[in-house]
Amino acid sequence: MMNMTQSERSERIAADLPQAIVRAELELHFQPIVRLAERRVEAVEALLRWRHPALGPISPAELVPIAERTGAIVAIGRWVLREALRQASAWAQAGLALRVAVNLSARQLSDPELLPLLSRTLAQTRLAAGSVEIELTESLAADPRTASELLGGLRLLGARVALDDFGTGYSSLASVAHLPLDTLKVDRSFIADAARDRRVRAVLASIVAMAHELSLETVAEGVETAAQQTFVTAAGCDLAQGYLHSPPLPAAECERWLRQRREEEERRARRRSRARRPSSAQIARTAARAPTAGTSAR
Ligand code: C2E
Ligand code: MG
Ligand code: MG
Repeated sequence: MMNMTQSERSERIAADLPQAIVRAELELHFQPIVRLAERRVEAVEALLRWRHPALGPISPAELVPIAERTGAIVAIGRWVLREALRQASAWAQAGLALRVAVNLSARQLSDPELLPLLSRTLAQTRLAAGSVEIELTESLAADPRTASELLGGLRLLGARVALDDFGTGYSSLASVAHLPLDTLKVDRSFIADAARDRRVRAVLASIVAMAHELSLETVAEGVETAAQQTFVTAAGCDLAQGYLHSPPLPAAECERWLRQRREEEERRARRRSRARRPSSAQIARTAARAPTAGTSAR
């Protein structure tokens, strides 16, 4: 396997892809998305993983373009959608209610089964449509008609829509204004530069301001350091995703991570409410100082 050329490798991947689902070689990993104001985990993004029996792990960056070319992405994308919702529903039933974000490739926009599948799967998993967010890349702005039809359908079902990797590619700002979106995900390259370059921070802040003007929420992608998180918070980003919080994790590990995180969030919330609520000693002191009823009047 070691001395394969790049094109032999691509051919092998293309040939084996259709079997990956039936052989159960695909898996989803999940990466938490944190609301910056409360530092609360609000969502997870489902990210595709394929362990090829001979080639080992194959990244989606390599896999998705090949699957797009062969058309296998349609079947894979349907599997991803079902699996992501199934997992989110299992977590909701276990007391870990979260929104789940699912990536959609350009080719899936014209999959006539996509909306019916989403609608059926929502009914089967009893998930609220609003707890599903479909992530689309800027490349879909290349086909705005098909895109806005699909987006309209997603809207009708009640699912949320995010524009992924914003700030790369070549979509016009107009497409952001015209597509029915809920979320803008600011690309990682931007976040990395923001910590180094004051001008990039200024642009980041204006992207966030524009998004808010359009009633869109913003997610900073690829937040790796506390310094970057400080910058994206200052720029007004609503949510953050990146290695600082957690890398994408297999479902079982993600569940452990989420439980631990929820416990910390609850401890923090209890501490905050204790700090606000006066203690019984404070109440007694206040009562002792207060003038008794009747004497205070006049
Ligand atoms: P994406 O949707 O923008 O997903 C975020 C990518 O950034 C993930 O790469 C994630 O592992 C990585 N990442 C997250 N935080 C950090 C960080 O702090 N630093 C760095 N350096 N990277 C970070 P991944 O999982 O390799 O996925 C790559 C791309 O492949 C995704 O980018 C998405 O466009 C595509 N993809 C993944 N899963 C699917 C899928 O199920 N369907 C489709 N159509 N595309 C998918
Ligand atoms: Mg994404
Ligand atoms: Mg992205």
